[in-house]
Parts: sequence; structure tokens; C-alpha cells
Amino acid sequence: MSETGDIPENEEAQAVGIPAVGVPAVGVPTPDGLEMVEAAPPEKDASPEDAPAIEVTDLWRSFNGLHAVQGISFSIERGQVVGFVGANGAGKTTTMRILATLDYPTRGTAKICGDDVVGYPAKVRQRIGWMPDHYGTYTNMTVLEYLDFFGRSLGFKGQDRVDRILDVMEFTDLTSLSDRLIDKLSKGMGQRLCLGRALLHDPDVLILDEPAAGLDPKARVELKYLIRILAEEGKTVFISSHILSELGEMCDSLLFINGGKIIHHGSAESLRKGSAESTIVNVQLIEDSDKLREWAELSPNVKFIDSTKQGGRIEIDSIEEDIIAGVLRRMINSELPVTEFHQEERKLEDAFIEILGEIEASGEAIVN
Ligand code: ATP
Repeated sequence: MSETGDIPENEEAQAVGIPAVGVPAVGVPTPDGLEMVEAAPPEKDASPEDAPAIEVTDLWRSFNGLHAVQGISFSIERGQVVGFVGANGAGKTTTMRILATLDYPTRGTAKICGDDVVGYPAKVRQRIGWMPDHYGTYTNMTVLEYLDFFGRSLGFKGQDRVDRILDVMEFTDLTSLSDRLIDKLSKGMGQRLCLGRALLHDPDVLILDEPAAGLDPKARVELKYLIRILAEEGKTVFISSHILSELGEMCDSLLFINGGKIIHHGSAESLRKGSAESTIVNVQLIEDSDKLREWAELSPNVKFIDSTKQGGRIEIDSIEEDIIAGVLRRMINSELPVTEFHQEERKLEDAFIEILGEIEASGEAIVN
């Protein structure tokens, strides 16, 4: 282990919670009921600078016949923040553990910055910061002792280690808590500590498994803020969560997984727009909703959907901006006292459910 922050192999790697993973032999049946057909081949010229941050190709992981991950492929460019979304048991953690070199694929390949996770686990570990949804059994240590332990395990020495720990505590706002025992930390503080641990060796790619789970709204905002800063620094962030609206705000794109298969990869924006051919508009008036209903019934292109306290929701049978503007113009010309007129975005949760429905109907994956 060097002063440069290289992550050590084997025993030391295990000390930081990252067990060394052996390369399974080609053609040997795994205990998982799926024969290993393609062991990750060590490649020359690994990690070219332009390789994607994460590249997964036809990845399978099976456990005694249960196919947790079923031939998924996706690619994440460097500097992107990508949300990994799926119901319980969809295969998120299984995929992330393979990327973090904690498990091996039954079939297929996964690469981090061009390095195969099975062929080059030590190189991969230098590149990634892995944040599981727990911080292990180190509860009788203080925050400082915990970070110091991992700093030592990572091979940082002397002032270099002190500087790394101070930087990480400052970034995660843990400096004032350095002497606090870990089991006295709140959930939010604990998550920040886990993130700090993942950042100690300044990795390029962060793999965060459900970092917002169980956090209160304030702690979630804090975590979101930290992730945004990391993204601005150019780090690639691959983050799983159930809270879709939050992922939509912080991610460049969302990757949906269902039953071990990728069912969608696209921007939150494209999801919100969907394939809609009409526009839902929320209209507020000085007067009550009857006025709006009466007006909508007499207006072409417009359908009244439902009322709100002072107004209601209407559907315009177009997504063309000039038609939408024309509807507002007609309202004003009809002397409707409009105080608010805004297009409703499709909720990401609704988009996810809709995609699931489409998948069930067609049996095909959608990749935008
Ligand atoms: P959650 O959101 O609940 O964490 P997930 O999307 O992360 O779900 P995984 O943990 O990847 O889902 O699990 C995918 C499937 O694989 C589940 O059916 C799970 O029970 C199974 N599974 C995962 N790990 C193992 C294992 N080591 N042995 C047997 N089955 C496993």
C-alpha cells in the first residue's frame, strides 16, 4: 500500500470491508444454478481515459436458480449522477455489490472506468467509493476513531491521513461530532459518516445504496446537497433510492430495474413528459370553480377534469406551446379572473407505474 492512496489487496482490503473476490473459472457451474460462461478477461489497456465510468454488459447474477439480475446492460458516462430505481427485490443491491467488487457476476461483465470488476478488483476499489446502507459493527468507536481506522486501512500515513480525515469531516459536517460515539449518532449523522468513509480515498465513482433510507426531510436535504457538490466536482454518482421525486431532482438520468431487468433509462425530464399528447393545466381564479367549468364546456380543445377550491384542472388536447398560450389568451378575453395557470408535470412515480404497465403489455424494455 502506498502513500498515493492505493487501496490494498486481500487482507487489508477486507479490513475496510471489501473482501477480495476470486475470478470464477470459465465453464464451471456456480452454486447459483447458472453456469459461468464468461469469466471477466483481464484486458490490456484497461481504464482508457475515455471509458465510461460504469459499463455493464449482459450482467447476470443468480442465487440457487433465483435470477436476481437478468442480463442487464447500461453505461454511465463520467460526471453523471444516475438514479437506480426499483421496487424491493428488483436487483439494485445485487448489481451494486458486483460493481463494488463484493460479489461476482454469474455471467457478463461490469467495468469501472474501463477496469473489469472481476479481473481488476484492486484497481476498481481505488476508483470507487461504496456506501452500503449500514456502517458495520463499529458502534463503540468515535467518529474520529472510525475514520482514522479506515484511513489507516486504506494505507494513508502521517499528515496525509490527518488531512484526509479533516477534509472529509468538514465536507460531511462532522467536525463538531468527532468525539461522539457512533452509536450516539442520529441516522442522518451516521449516513454522513458512511459517505465520509466512502470519500476518504477521493474516488472518482460513488456507488451509494439507498443513502436516503430512513432519513428525515432535513437530513435528506443535507444529503442531497452533498451529492450535488460531489457531482459539481465531477464525480460520477450511482445512487439507488425508492424516493423517486428526490432522485428526479438530483439525477441526470434514471435507470429503472424491475425483476432483475432494466426497463427504462432516460432523463427525469423525458419521464415527466412521457408520451403525452395532451397537457394538464391547473387554473386558479378569484371566483369559484363553476365559472371555469362553464367556460371549459364551451371551449374547443379544452376539457374540465376536476375542481379545486378556487378553480380546477383542465386538459388541453395538445402539447403545442402556441395552443396552450391560445387557451390562456381565450380565458383572459372571456374575462375569467385567472390568478394562476400552470402546467402539471407527470409525477415520476406515475411514470414508473406506467412504464411497468407497458412492459407487462409488451414484454419489451424501453431505453431512451
Ligand atoms: P431492496 O430495495 O429491498 O433492497 P433490491 O432491489 O436491492 O431490493 P436485491 O437485494 O438486489 O434487491 O435482491 C434481488 C433478489 O435477489 C431478491 O429476490 C433477493 O431475495 C435475492 N437475493 C439477493 N441476495 C441474495 C443472496 N445472497 N442469496 C439469495 N438470494 C439473494
